[in-house]
Formats: sequence, C-alpha cells, structure tokens
Amino acid sequence: MSLATKGALIVVSGFSGAGKGTLMKNLMKNYGESYALSISATSRAPRPGEEDGREYFFVTRERFEEMIAQSELVEYAQYVGNYYGTPKAYVMQQLEAGKNVILEIEIQGALKIKKQFPEACLMFVSAPSATELRNRLVGRGTEAPEVIDQRLNRACEESQGVEAYDYWIVNDDLDATTVRIHNIIENVRNNHSERNSEYTVSANEGFVNKMRDELMSFSKGE
Ligand code: 5GP
Repeated sequence: MSLATKGALIVVSGFSGAGKGTLMKNLMKNYGESYALSISATSRAPRPGEEDGREYFFVTRERFEEMIAQSELVEYAQYVGNYYGTPKAYVMQQLEAGKNVILEIEIQGALKIKKQFPEACLMFVSAPSATELRNRLVGRGTEAPEVIDQRLNRACEESQGVEAYDYWIVNDDLDATTVRIHNIIENVRNNHSERNSEYTVSANEGFVNKMRDELMSFSKGE
C-alpha cells in the first residue's frame, strides 16, 4: 500500500520510561495544527489519571480480538502481556487530510508499519543512559517492581532491533527534544532528509551500543 497523500506517517518508538508520551503531548501542544496523534486500543488497564479515548481506547481482550478479526487495526502487537493496536480508520482519514500522523508504538508494530508503508519515517526515543531510564521508571511510581524489570528486559530486547529505525532521538531535555523531532519531521515531509544526518541511527552507533551493553547488564541483574 502506498501513501499518495501530503501527510507523513511517523512512527515513534522508544524504551519504556524514555518520555515518548510526554514528548508527543508537547509536540501536539506546540505544533498541533500539523499533526494527528493516533490513539491506540489496548487491553491493559488504565493507569491513574489516564482516560478512555485520550491516552488509549481501553478495551477487553475479547473486544480486541474482535477488532483483529474484523481488520479494524492497521497493526497490533502484544507487549508485556497485553494487546496494543492502531485503529485503521483514523490514520487513513488524517493522512488523506494532509496531517503528519504519529503512531507511538513498540518495535513489532513499527516493523509491520514499515512493511506496509515503506515511506513511513521511524524514530526511536532513548533516555540519555540506561541508569536514567531505570530511575525514570522507578520514579514514575506507576508500575510494580516486577513490571519495571519486565519493561527493562523488554528494553534490552528492543535495543537489538533499533537498526530498523531511521532516527535515534535522545530525550535529554523536553523542549529541545520536541523542537528536534519537529524539525526532523518537517525535513522528511519536505524531502530534505539529508539535513537530519546527525540524528540517524547509524550516525549514533557508539551511543546505541553503549545503551545496549548497559541494558544487558541490567537484565543479567548486575
Ligand atoms: P504503555 O503500557 O507504557 O502505555 O505502552 C507499552 C508499549 O506499547 C509502548 O512501547 C507503546 O509505544 C506501545 N504501544 C502503544 N500503542 C501501541 C499500538 O497501537 N501498537 C503497538 N504495536 N504498540 C503500541
């Protein structure tokens, strides 16, 4: 399938705790007219403060399986015991309306999107270090210790697949990182991708490898 539209399809993935959600909210707040943020369906329970239809459409596993069977999702995946998926109708409508559509999804979903839409732009958000990532997950206080460990293990697995992504974004400062993401997307949309060269995954190989090593030592319990 190809995107004969003016809007760009942007996938944003990242380690749990890297701050993707906050970055996306900030992007929408500052540049909302250019973007449509897709709201996923999930079978996970809402966290305190999350609202149905705002962060996610919270559905039962049965309803989710019905959505799969009826081809209502453009992609879906399982993550730490729950289903997550992107409703198709909204994404297609917004791309046709010329918006840059953002999918904040994990790596399996990102790969499915790249297969269906080769021109999609894939970004991976990291914290400045694995220690910082763990501190953010613990400090957020929304997950039990064993879930934090599962999420760090998953981060370790995900770090093995980041070469599939186009860009590596280090979330060191909320506002500066938001501007960086916006500029990268504008360059992609205007076919000036060469201006983004310092943010490609390959240009950041040293950082990526260091992050991998640190996450690996966490998952070995070091
Ligand atoms: P959380 O439970 O922290 O909100 O999300 C867990 C993971 O699921 C995150 O990596 C998030 O990006 C991913 N995710 C959220 N929505 C979707 C979706 O629609 N599809 C896929 N494949 N992953 C998703």
